[in-house]
Amino acid sequence: LEQLQRDLEEARNKASVDELTNIPNRRATRATLQDLEIRKVRYCAAIIDIDHFKAINDTYGHPVGDRALKLVATALTDSLAPWHVARWGGEEFLVIAEIPDAAKMAERVQEAKDALADRNLKLRETDEPMEPISFSAGVAVNGDSSDDTLRRADNALYAAKKAGRNTVLVAPESGRIGDAA
Ligand code: GH3
Ligand code: MG
Ligand code: MG
Repeated sequence: LEQLQRDLEEARNKASVDELTNIPNRRATRATLQDLEIRKVRYCAAIIDIDHFKAINDTYGHPVGDRALKLVATALTDSLAPWHVARWGGEEFLVIAEIPDAAKMAERVQEAKDALADRNLKLRETDEPMEPISFSAGVAVNGDSSDDTLRRADNALYAAKKAGRNTVLVAPESGRIGDAA
């Protein structure tokens, strides 16, 4: 029975943790969002997308790209603790903070970006220096639903990319004039 319980716990853990980066996965994050919606608390979400990640894969190869993803996952988790930092998919991360102020969250995401830019990255095999890693992010305070929140954060991320990347932008609040439909 004990073995069965251990197996069950391991299976539960596997279902909620991203295999590559060891941080919460999309499924775990959906559960976190659902819990916030049920509790009706004000929260903020940030979608973070690594800039020109394809170039890292193309220049150094897929295994180095994988290592870069692990590094970013750990760096974000450290910089943004105690907030929920998850791998949303590919080279995208989702951060959830139980705070009411999107500008405050954007400030800390910006700091996490600066900390990552300050790291001296080197290729493990050759000691060759690597270009710093940057990301773009969109931050939104919660709206009518978690889908609405994520959609607005994603719109802000898109705007950050369009503005030239390496940028953190805050989405307009839900229902405001000027918000994209
Ligand atoms: P942008 O600045 O517009 O975000 O450009 P980008 O190159 O980051 O975006 P794009 O969506 O074109 O490329 C994302 C790349 O991420 C493509 C895909 O091969 C790579 N990728 C997704 N998941 C993984 C993974 O688990 N490991 C590795 N090594 N690469 C991955
Ligand atoms: Mg992407
Ligand atoms: Mg990208």
